Amino acid sequence: MSKLKLKKSVQKIIILAIVIIILGGIGLYSYNKIKKQKEYEQTYEYKLKTVGYNDEDVEFIQKKFKDQEIEYILGQEKNDTYIAIAKEEFFIYDKFYNYLDYFQNNPTLTLRDVIEKVNTKTNTPYYENPLKTDITKKELMLVNKYYYLDETYTPENLVTIPLTYAYGELGSQQVTEDTYNAFLNLWNAAKSAGYSLIINSSYRTYESQTNVYNDYKKQGTEYADKIAARPGFSEHQTGYAFDMFAIGTNSKNFHESEAYQWLLDNAYKYGFILRYPVDKVNITGYEFESWHYRYVGIDAATYIHEHNITFDEYYAYFIETQS
Ligand SMILES: [Zn+2]
Repeated sequence: MSKLKLKKSVQKIIILAIVIIILGGIGLYSYNKIKKQKEYEQTYEYKLKTVGYNDEDVEFIQKKFKDQEIEYILGQEKNDTYIAIAKEEFFIYDKFYNYLDYFQNNPTLTLRDVIEKVNTKTNTPYYENPLKTDITKKELMLVNKYYYLDETYTPENLVTIPLTYAYGELGSQQVTEDTYNAFLNLWNAAKSAGYSLIINSSYRTYESQTNVYNDYKKQGTEYADKIAARPGFSEHQTGYAFDMFAIGTNSKNFHESEAYQWLLDNAYKYGFILRYPVDKVNITGYEFESWHYRYVGIDAATYIHEHNITFDEYYAYFIETQS
């Protein structure tokens, strides 16, 4: 073989090798690209975008929802309600499907109303499937038309309210010790502002609530339920609630008094809330009671005051969901 021929053969081999390497590279590159694409198509990001959600939606859905709910969302047409409802202030994750159901049946409601109704169970009839309340929550226990206390429940540490602060005979007015101590602070602050508060009704036993309720019941169950709690369902049995007026006022005119206004602005600082406000009748299930105050502690009272919500809503969002 001549030197020239040998050189040409080597050149051919080198060219062939280069071609093979290039082709192999292209092949491997394409294979990886397809593989990556296939993998991407398995992601929620891809699937959500395919349904029609934009980048921002996709990010929110993946951050907020767990697999089961994302699968559910993927099984439906694009619907902005899922995102909007999850962005609501008091959205509770475990109630997601309940919200959707209720909204579907009541499409004229705002999402805020849907959340409020479902959280407080006011989308269901009063007294229908009542639950025994968790008494270990103490001043944060909820007693309303959905949560009740046993006939045998008596608060610990009941103390007698001296007659300086309460109507009736000595010993007839009682609240829990923490409620009483907080009330003294409230009373003193009110006094300094020029108002003399006086408690009219406080702790009630199951039996005494039975009497109160049965008295109204003579005019029909519907009427009685509007005015009074059924036995076991009264906050007065907790020992954390009382009815209070300013001296010289009564249930008819207390809401027009300066003392009432002062309490609206200041009671939370001492741990108390107006339990049945005028604009929350649909949530509390009670007619406006300008006189009924409940001790919940300063933190809860402050939050409730600042967010203009009821204790029922507070309980659903902060207390019930923890247990
Ligand atoms: Zn009351």
